[in-house]
Amino acid sequence: MRLDTLVVALNKVGKSTAGKLKRLGINNVSDLLFYYPFRYEDYSKISLIKDVKEGEATTVKGKIELIANRRTRFKKIITEALVSDESGSIRVVWFNQPFLTKSLSPGVEVRLSGVVKRDMFGPQFVSPTYELGQNTVNTGRLVPIYPLTEGVTQKQLRYLVQQCLSAVGLVEEWLPEKIIVQNKLLKISDALKKIHFPNDETDVKSATERLKFDELFLVQLKTELSRIQRSSLSAPSLLIEEQKIKEFVSNLPFQLTNDQRISSWEILKNISGKQPMNRLLSGDVGSGKTIVAAISLYNTILNDYTGVLMAPTEILAAQHFSSLKKIIKESIALFTRNNHLLFDGENEQEVSKKDLLKIIGEGKVKIIIGTHALLSEGIELNKLGLVIVDEQHRFGVLQRKLIKEKGGGVHFLSMTATPIPRSLALMIYGDLEVSLIKEMPKGRKPVYTKLVEPSKRQAAYDFIKKEVEKGRQIFVVCPLIENATPAEEKKSVLSEYKKLSEVIFPNFRVAYLHGKLPAKGNKKGEKSKEEIMQEFKDGKIDVLVSTSVIEVGVDVPNATIMMIEGAERFGLAQLHQFRGRVGRGAEQSYCFLFTENESAKIKERLTYFEKNNNGFALAEKDLELRGPGEVYGTTQSGLMQLRIAKLSDVEIIKKARASAQEIVKDFSDYPLLQTKLKNWESIFHPE
Ligand code: ADP
Ligand code: MG
Repeated sequence: MRLDTLVVALNKVGKSTAGKLKRLGINNVSDLLFYYPFRYEDYSKISLIKDVKEGEATTVKGKIELIANRRTRFKKIITEALVSDESGSIRVVWFNQPFLTKSLSPGVEVRLSGVVKRDMFGPQFVSPTYELGQNTVNTGRLVPIYPLTEGVTQKQLRYLVQQCLSAVGLVEEWLPEKIIVQNKLLKISDALKKIHFPNDETDVKSATERLKFDELFLVQLKTELSRIQRSSLSAPSLLIEEQKIKEFVSNLPFQLTNDQRISSWEILKNISGKQPMNRLLSGDVGSGKTIVAAISLYNTILNDYTGVLMAPTEILAAQHFSSLKKIIKESIALFTRNNHLLFDGENEQEVSKKDLLKIIGEGKVKIIIGTHALLSEGIELNKLGLVIVDEQHRFGVLQRKLIKEKGGGVHFLSMTATPIPRSLALMIYGDLEVSLIKEMPKGRKPVYTKLVEPSKRQAAYDFIKKEVEKGRQIFVVCPLIENATPAEEKKSVLSEYKKLSEVIFPNFRVAYLHGKLPAKGNKKGEKSKEEIMQEFKDGKIDVLVSTSVIEVGVDVPNATIMMIEGAERFGLAQLHQFRGRVGRGAEQSYCFLFTENESAKIKERLTYFEKNNNGFALAEKDLELRGPGEVYGTTQSGLMQLRIAKLSDVEIIKKARASAQEIVKDFSDYPLLQTKLKNWESIFHPE
């Protein structure tokens, strides 16, 4: 057996099983070895049958006294057995496995692991795992539990991993000896053995630590190397056009907050240098990041360089376009999948995609605003000076890398409303500099937030009615259904829309918005997402029912109520994003939360939200309650390479970081590490 031996070569793997394993990313022996369990079931203690307790994971050892198949009234086959040890006997039942009686017959010694349930006749093992003989993989120990896919069972995976263990010695130790010693780590082959079949908790701990270290070390190594690489790149130095910037700022309809001023200054200073900027601008929703972006872009074009602003959605890109063209009277293009607009400093016109590509390629547009459609078009960007990415955690590392490469040495700013605790920032971005906007623009009233009892629903509707009659607008966000398809989410929006437009607010202008609306200019003449959003902004819609597509950045100062259905389905940070959609004007705004769920835990979470208006505190709480994967969307933040490590493994992160810093000093001495890093990158960042 070799590490690259395909799974079909293993015992009991046919074409169909191989296909299913492929869905789990398992193609060969090595993949199986690196397919880690995510928890263990403790079947390590063998109980006497008389001590077996209901509802607990238990293993017993005994002899089969009786066993027989029986057909039930519903034509199902069940296998019933009686197993006994020296202390007593217990009934066992399996469903639809008539073949069991072939290997299990009276007199045979078995181990059974599983949960005992009680029926009218007393305790009974229901579908336990069984094993014959001494070699126990599935019972009588800490049993690994793997993430599964349909058609693959725990038992099957364990059997396959067990087969591969003989190849574990072939896995090359890739960590330098001194790193292993310094950090008191297990050897890779030991760690792999123990992660699958630990003898005890200590094994689990030491194996987990080694394998987590591996991942975090690679991330840190990568970060360190790119830091070194970046410091050797040069970017255009964009001089600070102080006079013109001052003029620009004084023409704004408001005064900058102190934090906006400081952040803008930090950015301008940074991009006036010769080294590429790599900076994060972090500020709560509504803190005014856009204007800081605008100032930076403006300074870029004053230097005769192009600026790019990337947004996560078409709606947001369109919004940025419309705000920028109000304050920057220069050429600006909007390039998304459905929109290709050109503003020449005075007028806006629609152009074909082809023409827009050409105009951009010729370097005739100073500012380009777009979504990731920009990246997939292979746009030629002339004299690229600054790239700004709004809500960057929605962009994969790949995309960021792409645009970085396209521009060569280019200044890079990412903006986010997700407050990222310092330790995480270090982990994710390593060498990133951070500008913070902590204060809100003056005159903002905090949004009044209320978790509404189901019995008070009508009162909430009455209140909304009064607000609309005053001329205000309302957002209604419908639950994101867990694992739902976009079509199912669309359905939930549509039924809420029907109820509100026909029953509750028949006299108001109610509209809906979801991710599956057709593109602009579709044949059926239906309105697109952007068109509806625009109508809402223009005050032509009173109540907008929507999925979470309105989550990021949409700015409608006249909207004063945010009503959230199924609030328990959203994370705190996300709820905070929704709440940030209102409270942008001078009027008092409200956020009403509804939940049908009575669980105390959910109530606690939502009450916490009710009382806290600080994005940072909410993000920390979220982190505590739900873990970083869900909060920061690991797959999207480029942390998808973490299969076992967690962002909260701060201690290991620190160790891995220190080790990486030491190793990069003479990286060329470690050819094995270099190969490993390359392979790792090619898996996670193909291209
Ligand atoms: P975010 O940080 O969430 O992206 P925006 O940039 O969209 O916030 O700003 C939110 C709103 O606040 C916008 O309507 C913007 O015009 C306004 N705004 C930004 N800065 C100020 C300020 N200093 N004073 C008053 N209003 C401001
Ligand atoms: Mg924004």
